[in-house]
Amino acid sequence: MIRVRYAPSPTGYLHAGGARTCLFNWLFARRHNGRFILRIEDTDRTRYQERSLADLLEGLRWLGLDWDEGPEVGGPYGPYFQSQRLPLYQEYAQKLVEAGHAYKCYCSQERLQQLRAEAGRRNQPTGYDRHCRELSAKERAQKEAEGIVPVIRLKVPLEGETSFHDLIRGTISMQNSQMDDFILLKSDGYPTYHLANVVDDHLMEISHIMRADEWIPSTPRHVLMYRAFGWTPPLYAHLPVILSPTGKGKMSKRKTIGSDGREYPVLIREFRAAGYLPEALFNFLALVGWSYDDKTEILTREQIIQHFDLEHVSKSPAKFSYDKLDWMNGVYIRQLDPDDLARRLKPFLDKAKFEADLHTIRRMVPLIQERMVKLTDALALVDFFFAEELCYDPQLLIQKGMDVEQTRQVLAESEQVLRALPVFEEADIEAALRAKAESMGLKARQFFGTLRIATTGKEVAPPLFGTLAILGRDKVLKRIARARELLMAAA
Ligand code: GLU
Repeated sequence: MIRVRYAPSPTGYLHAGGARTCLFNWLFARRHNGRFILRIEDTDRTRYQERSLADLLEGLRWLGLDWDEGPEVGGPYGPYFQSQRLPLYQEYAQKLVEAGHAYKCYCSQERLQQLRAEAGRRNQPTGYDRHCRELSAKERAQKEAEGIVPVIRLKVPLEGETSFHDLIRGTISMQNSQMDDFILLKSDGYPTYHLANVVDDHLMEISHIMRADEWIPSTPRHVLMYRAFGWTPPLYAHLPVILSPTGKGKMSKRKTIGSDGREYPVLIREFRAAGYLPEALFNFLALVGWSYDDKTEILTREQIIQHFDLEHVSKSPAKFSYDKLDWMNGVYIRQLDPDDLARRLKPFLDKAKFEADLHTIRRMVPLIQERMVKLTDALALVDFFFAEELCYDPQLLIQKGMDVEQTRQVLAESEQVLRALPVFEEADIEAALRAKAESMGLKARQFFGTLRIATTGKEVAPPLFGTLAILGRDKVLKRIARARELLMAAA
């Protein structure tokens, strides 16, 4: 049975890198009908941030990444919060001590600090010097009698090397001399990441570990621990690092504003607020380090599940291209059913205080669907619908090759035509206005150019007739009347 996990530490908001790791694990589980487990590694109380758990669960749900076991859903291997499993880690650390694979260390903070400082001065590795590794029973008893609460450290072999096979990178080895006797259990009874992670992966019967490659240096340590426990380690697959769009260095963990003034979101909540669709981000993230073939970019969720494999996860760093994400998001927006798009736009319009019911938004959708990259782009496309009064330079009303008098006539005639229409619908509006433009001997560009400025305040706006129909007769007539005033005042 394939069992994989995403094991975040709640130390901040969910970011793109974390979501990518989670997604790959999720895909692997779904592809092989396995189980996907969410485990919260919250034993580092100094870095713990309360709000990050809610953000994590919300972000994963928004992306459609559901978990079979974990917070809020439970499961047979719980609890899934490490902070609720402390006695287990203590018990397992104790077992290693009893088996002679780990030992209690009574060194004080001051001694350790001094050690580090000295080693630093001599340019030597700053690891622990194994002072307590060979304490006699008598020495230990004495320390205990002094009331010193020890930490527990692993006895790392002094020679040789530790290797493991990585499904993506092949064999990775580390000299044991490069590892110090690292801490498993702290003096406050809390486990370190290493102990809790290994104990849980074993007890939760995790079959494959897919995680960011920054954890590679930890893996030989974990392998040593599995050995000490007499357990078989899971299979490892370390995912390629994500590079910033410039290809220089790792992707930032913080939102940045480019020199072009453009925002580069990083947190899942930021992508969401910027108007990216979860299915587009899902598709995009799946391709950060994995590919189906060399060319296919747009893949449905089901296709990705069906094809996801570790053979096509790259060894080399993966670039995070915002241009590609934007392009992809535009594709997904254009593919949306208009009713669906209307529903998704509603919260963005609400937030901007553009009051429109779903029905009205639905009528706007055909006018803007082709023109959006992100949902937030709708705001600048439809803002004029909601404005009390439009703001524009009246000179713009006068189109190329026209004078003030002709412009005034266009406005007056349009007003009349539109007032007289029995029903105020797109097709009728178009027919009546086209006929009027023709009878006045004006080009469509001129006639409608004036009318566009008068009713939208913009030189570039959604298709005019549909726009007028949605604005409604009252608003349109009011705006034309005001345009006439502005024109006369400016002339
Ligand atoms: N808690 C670790 C993290 O924050 C888990 C790393 C792992 O998957 O082993 O990423």
